[in-house]
Amino acid sequence: MEHKKTTISSAPDTAPYYQEIGKEVEVFQHCWKNHLPFLLKGPTGTGKSRFLEYMAFTLQQPIITVACHEETSSTDLIGRFIIKGTETVWQDGPLTIAVKQGGILYLDEIAEARPDVIVAIHPLTDHRRELFIDKLGTMIKAHRDFMLVASFNPGYQRGFKELKPSTRQRFVSMSFDYPEKELEKMILMKETGIDSGVAKKLVNIANKIRNLTELGLTETVSTRLLVDAGKLIQSGLPKRLSVEVAVVEPLSDDPEIVEALRDLTQLLI
Ligand code: ADP
Repeated sequence: MEHKKTTISSAPDTAPYYQEIGKEVEVFQHCWKNHLPFLLKGPTGTGKSRFLEYMAFTLQQPIITVACHEETSSTDLIGRFIIKGTETVWQDGPLTIAVKQGGILYLDEIAEARPDVIVAIHPLTDHRRELFIDKLGTMIKAHRDFMLVASFNPGYQRGFKELKPSTRQRFVSMSFDYPEKELEKMILMKETGIDSGVAKKLVNIANKIRNLTELGLTETVSTRLLVDAGKLIQSGLPKRLSVEVAVVEPLSDDPEIVEALRDLTQLLI
């Protein structure tokens, strides 16, 4: 069964839209210059991937993204022998490709991966910048343009995996969170084309729900959900329905919570 999802994208031709929230661009540039691995912490939908695309454009580097899950192993990253006709040939994995050719290797949701992944990347995260390919018995030095980036969702709720302190301390880290109201409004307008009145209402809805900690939602309203709602509204779907299907329903499967959220949001849009 094929589980892993890896995408290789060359540096974007045009700058992706990214609204800087803090000092992340400057910090990232210095990490790049100093060969330091970078960890993006924060819930889903807070602009981590978009930020990385933006940095890839700025630095003119390709990004290899590996969406990690509980079965992602060091073999998936480093490579394996495959049967081709009557021969067995070695095939580099995404990590080996990035180490050899340079570029940004993005391990999305690194804490989900199997522990041997962490072991494999250790020598790449310090001054050695080396990758040991045990199946070939070789050691390769990273290309000068190789950079390791990972994301991690600290998820204070149950169901999320932790990242060991010894791993966390190998990365320069920054937290990504929901932007403050004015910035989020601007992101919605730029991303979807909705007017400022609608954008303001969507941001208001998000902030109301984000404050409802008693609902015990595993994840709350992200900028991504608001962008989705904005796109539906902009394409002509009624506002209430857009918010229901893009914001309320994705948040919970509990009928009572969905109903409470629907009642609340319908008043606000
Ligand atoms: P993550 O990688 O954190 O899950 P994404 O980068 O995929 O989140 O962001 C989800 C969507 O939210 C993006 O596609 C974009 O439309 C929007 N978005 C969030 N934050 C920003 C930002 N700072 N600038 C521009 N767009 C953003």
